[in-house]
Amino acid sequence: MIQCWASELDTCGTRQTGEHIFSRGLFNRWKTILVRGFPWCLSDPVEVGLNKLTANILCDRHNGRLSPTDQAAQDFMTTIEETARLEKLRTKFPNRKWTSRRWAIEGNPLERWFAKTSINLLCGSGARSAWPLKGPAQTRPPIHMVRATFGHHGFDEPLGLYAAARVGDRTGPIGHVGCGVLLDAVENPAACYFEFHGFRFLFWLLDVPIPQHLSPLEFVEDWKGLQLIRHIEAIRWERNSVLSQAIHFEWLGKNPPNRVKGTRARACTES
Ligand SMILES: [Zn+2]
Repeated sequence: MIQCWASELDTCGTRQTGEHIFSRGLFNRWKTILVRGFPWCLSDPVEVGLNKLTANILCDRHNGRLSPTDQAAQDFMTTIEETARLEKLRTKFPNRKWTSRRWAIEGNPLERWFAKTSINLLCGSGARSAWPLKGPAQTRPPIHMVRATFGHHGFDEPLGLYAAARVGDRTGPIGHVGCGVLLDAVENPAACYFEFHGFRFLFWLLDVPIPQHLSPLEFVEDWKGLQLIRHIEAIRWERNSVLSQAIHFEWLGKNPPNRVKGTRARACTES
């Protein structure tokens, strides 16, 4: 029998896909990831090979319909790697006059990729306890989260993607990737968190606001004191009080059309 966490949405396909929990297209960037918060790595992070993180959790039809979100994730990774490369270059030559660079990212498909990957992590890695929003079974996500992940509607606040940041934070180094699940007071999954090259994101799964003090802010030292920003609009870098580069995020219904102008990741060129 096919196992598919989207089976409540509509008819499943005919094949089990052996879904990679992280998109296969990201494997040429990273080989391993530090994972924490699951039953097999509750207290200490465990380094896991990405190609080993697979599970029978989606059918071919639903897996295929989510593949556009993989491109959004790849575009975002390309962008943050390019910003890191440029900052390193500009740090080397601090007195040179640099053109400020602007990058544009579509937020909604990126948020759907984080949602899909969070659901994959929880369904595929053995979440410690039940889904908090009463899915059709304890091992399944609730239908409104499934529908939002497939783009049928947005994620109702406070659910959704949060950036974790503080003013003056340095990004990088390139290479570190990590993720994990955090549990609420009764040990149900409350969120999945992700760290990519110093950029930190959290996908919040509950319909109650994020508390002020919460894991991983408790158990990941670096996250203490970070501000969580839902649907972040921009990340900026300044050098000598002048804008060096900025990533702008476009969100449906939030940014007026054409307000955000910037280089798309795949089209970027040397500054
Ligand atoms: Zn399916």
